[in-house]
Amino acid sequence: MDSAPASLVNDTILNVAQLLKENVGQKRRYDVSLASLDLDEGTEARDVSASLKLTRIADGILVTGSIAGRAKLECVRCLNEFEADFSGDIEAQFRPTIDISTGLPVGNDEDDETFEIDDNHHLDLAEMLRQVIILTLPIRPVCGDDCPGFTSEFRGGDEAPSEDAGDERLAVLEQLLDDSRDER
Ligand SMILES: [Zn+2]
Repeated sequence: MDSAPASLVNDTILNVAQLLKENVGQKRRYDVSLASLDLDEGTEARDVSASLKLTRIADGILVTGSIAGRAKLECVRCLNEFEADFSGDIEAQFRPTIDISTGLPVGNDEDDETFEIDDNHHLDLAEMLRQVIILTLPIRPVCGDDCPGFTSEFRGGDEAPSEDAGDERLAVLEQLLDDSRDER
């Protein structure tokens, strides 16, 4: 009954009009591959691959699956850029803004933790994937065991700057997540 997954290459938008017309419990599978995905200023994910299952639920579509790829990170100690593998699980709900059978707007709760399917029944995975990837990344990335450490300006005081850098990065991530919630 499960057909082979459809491929989505370097694109994050799915037309889910047909699935929205189907009964609760109906499914679609997609293999998504993206050469790159912007995460935030100065950070991007590369070679992203996600295996996704879209399930029709009562008030929209549930997206579940897994994601893996590489991300460009900045080391909190030496400030060099480096790449690290990431992987994580996905579970996200998307709600339509337009009722597929009546064509009337659907009143969605602004505060809930869901993503929107737009008026043309397009489900854009990009923002959801971005948030999932950011949550898999280390809050205080270190480039590796052979990290050259702090530059000489910090000599004698290795600990304090590392705490500052980590807190700063955490604050940036929290701000980004807050911002993206506000946009919805
Ligand atoms: Zn380093």
